[in-house]
Amino acid sequence: MRPPRVRFAPSPTGYFHVGSARSALFNWFIARQHPEGVFILRIEDTDESRNREEWVDGIVSAMEWLGMKADIGPYRQSNHDAEHRAATAALIAAGRAYYCDCTADDVGDRKGDNKTPGYDGFCRDRGLAAGERTAVRFRTPDSGAITVLDLIRGPVTFEQTVLDDFVIAKSSGAVLYALANVVDDRRDLVTHVIRGEEHLPNAPKQMMLWSALTEVTGVAVDLPVYAHLPLLVNEQRKKLSKRRDPVATESYRDQGILPEAFVNYLSLLGWSPRGDEEMVDLATCVRQFRLEDVSHSPAFFDVKKMTAMNGDYIRRLSDGAFAQAVAPWVNPSTGSWRPTDYETPWLSERFNPTVFATMAPLVQERIATLGEAPAMVAFLFLADPPYDEVAFDKSIRTNEAGRGVLAACLDAFATCPFDAPSLHSIVAEIGEGRGLNLRKTQAPLRCAITGTLVGPPLFESLALVGRDEVRRRLAQALER
Ligand code: GLU
Repeated sequence: MRPPRVRFAPSPTGYFHVGSARSALFNWFIARQHPEGVFILRIEDTDESRNREEWVDGIVSAMEWLGMKADIGPYRQSNHDAEHRAATAALIAAGRAYYCDCTADDVGDRKGDNKTPGYDGFCRDRGLAAGERTAVRFRTPDSGAITVLDLIRGPVTFEQTVLDDFVIAKSSGAVLYALANVVDDRRDLVTHVIRGEEHLPNAPKQMMLWSALTEVTGVAVDLPVYAHLPLLVNEQRKKLSKRRDPVATESYRDQGILPEAFVNYLSLLGWSPRGDEEMVDLATCVRQFRLEDVSHSPAFFDVKKMTAMNGDYIRRLSDGAFAQAVAPWVNPSTGSWRPTDYETPWLSERFNPTVFATMAPLVQERIATLGEAPAMVAFLFLADPPYDEVAFDKSIRTNEAGRGVLAACLDAFATCPFDAPSLHSIVAEIGEGRGLNLRKTQAPLRCAITGTLVGPPLFESLALVGRDEVRRRLAQALER
């Protein structure tokens, strides 16, 4: 067995799709299973009309975030343009490809009522030379069949009659994906082509190109094995769409999904580790992963499940690791990365790391994404946390008993000890005196201090806000 050499070859034409991230990961698993395995990151940037530099940056930084370091690359396909053109020329010189000046309309007109899809081979033997309007087509056999050995799907056979003479280079000379990809895979000595299912129809074309290049260049390179990963679908079992579904890996990072949780969740899209436990670390995935075990039925990309799993990952972090992970959302000025277009709800100079550290374990217990943290602690760092009006109406404005609680607290808090356990018993006592249970007693108090009815444990929060500020907010709420 040769050590595996795999490549992840994204085209930078948009946000980094979660399906691409899954392809990258499964490639990476295969490379890491062997001490001499090689993981190549090739940016397929030859389609100038669709590429943008910012998408390249997005791919590279997402790969870093997910910890998938490349052994070769990131390198750009466009750096090898001369090689791609030379391959085209060699195929033409050997008669394996030819120039064609047909427009789509020409082909359509010739077909008339004949609905056979694809190109009819009109220019095959016209002996056209390179010209402004001549694309290059690969000459495919007229009969027989070609079988793709797919590790996930088993053998998939394509009849040659359904494979037309496809275009490999445009009239501008620009080489198209199918050929450029094969030239690069041959140079990179790729052993496994692992990619999304949408590329399965490209596999027979690429196999033909591969052996044609072996013939015309005299350089024999073993054909790779193929593995086409199952489609990702949404809740309605529809293919994930860029427009409808949240598919951008970048957006999950911005929301505060941990990379280890994201990678774990991606690993479950079409595959599962042994046993009942789905929360598994990377080392376990690498050890257990086999392409042969990947399912070929569509995999449900379940954002809710991923988010819940992320919450579990967050709760498992040590205090130090949590502080570090949540920093971009609460104290972004300290780090090199911050979520896209993100500002903390408070002025950065009002943030107090010691106060946050005291509250952090309580926040960590209660959030599913790191991005939920700021809203939970904003009352600590905002001069005047805004009231949630519905909460204010319900718990204070229309609640006479609630206002009674606030007035009594304002009084009692002037002198009582100001630590969480003492505050707890004083507030409970005030409530009991008014025939209110603790929950009903807490609600107006929480709203007066934090502006909302949900949040971290109340008495710890009061202690952190401090006596004077708590009393100021109580008076302000009563006044309002
Ligand atoms: N550039 C292609 C894509 O992003 C790569 C396909 C392949 O892996 O062969 O879809």
